[in-house]
Amino acid sequence: MKRILVSRCFTGECCRYDGKHNLVPEIRELADRGIAVPVCPEQLGGLPTPRTPSEIRSDRVIMRDGTDVTDNFRRGAERALAICLGQGCVCAVTKAKSPSCGCGRVYDGTFTGTLVSGDGIFVRLLKEAGIPVCTEKDDWQRLIGADEGLNGADSSSR
Ligand code: SF4
Repeated sequence: MKRILVSRCFTGECCRYDGKHNLVPEIRELADRGIAVPVCPEQLGGLPTPRTPSEIRSDRVIMRDGTDVTDNFRRGAERALAICLGQGCVCAVTKAKSPSCGCGRVYDGTFTGTLVSGDGIFVRLLKEAGIPVCTEKDDWQRLIGADEGLNGADSSSR
């Protein structure tokens, strides 16, 4: 079965830095049907929940209190990518603006809400591996629906 990789917080899991979630009901349904594979790279990297928020600054990942958590982010991204590839995911829908899951725009490291061009640490690895990525703010249904093999797996799994 072909699958899609999704940020775990979309499924209603409270894995965000603040202990909350980013539920997207349609993605939760795909996960319940075994089509979406949820991962949280920051938890996979050994960080606790809740945790101090982090941002990317000059290719390092720094918590608001100044702690350098780059190694946690990289380890979690590598583990999440291994799950993605191991599960045969053909594309990914990830959380906008996150220092792990953001795609195209992320916060600039000043903790002032300022966005800059760039990708989160996990999304960088996904793109290097050739996995198409978009966020929940994009037309993600189109990205998923464009893959006929995924639709076929969807209908046959019911
Ligand atoms: S690392 Fe990704 S999956 Fe985990 S809480 Fe942040 S945005 Fe969601």
